[in-house]
Amino acid sequence: MLILGLIGGIGSGKSTVAEMFCRLGAERIDADQIGHEVLQYHDVQTAARNHWGDRIFDANGKLNRKMLAQIVFEPSEAGHLELSFLNFLVHPHITQKIEDQIRHFSESQCHYLILDAPLLLEQHWEQRVNSLVFVDAPRSIRLARIQKRGWTQTELDAREQTQLSIEKKRHAADWIINNSGNLDETLDHVKKIWQNLEN
Ligand code: ADP
Repeated sequence: MLILGLIGGIGSGKSTVAEMFCRLGAERIDADQIGHEVLQYHDVQTAARNHWGDRIFDANGKLNRKMLAQIVFEPSEAGHLELSFLNFLVHPHITQKIEDQIRHFSESQCHYLILDAPLLLEQHWEQRVNSLVFVDAPRSIRLARIQKRGWTQTELDAREQTQLSIEKKRHAADWIINNSGNLDETLDHVKKIWQNLEN
């Protein structure tokens, strides 16, 4: 089984490209989705409540991810420490789930697996992949796309500051997919890489 890791800036189109690879026959691990699942774990929520209190839960007792994000992505030393604590809580579980899924796919005749993990390099997952694909789109386009999902420039800045620079991500890549145009053009790039892999 060949594992392809997707890297790129926030809103660059990693999930979009992952879906395109899946249409061609790949399987996918979605680390964002796994992160959301892990935040539902009882022990994680108990530790989170002990640390941040009731303010990160809504009236129905549901964890308010937007509120938590505001705390951990606050651009200050205090915010940095809160993010470290969140990582300390969730990353062992996320790592475990990703390893479980890799094992599951490798045992089930999967030939190509896409690892779509926004913090792939930051969490050193590059050691577990065979190739890295960088999804490229200029910041202005990324911002416009995520603004449609309700994000603000401030939120983009705050999160981007906690990640490796775009230049370092691009530099680490074996392949670069330009996703600044329309989806058909991106699909053409994805197909070219797919053909290369199959050869
Ligand atoms: P990432 O996973 O890197 O954060 P997404 O794949 O979620 O990025 O893409 C961010 C947003 O931009 C999504 O709403 C997606 O539908 C949209 N998008 C991605 N690629 C394109 C494209 N080539 N043209 C137009 N919209 C796009």
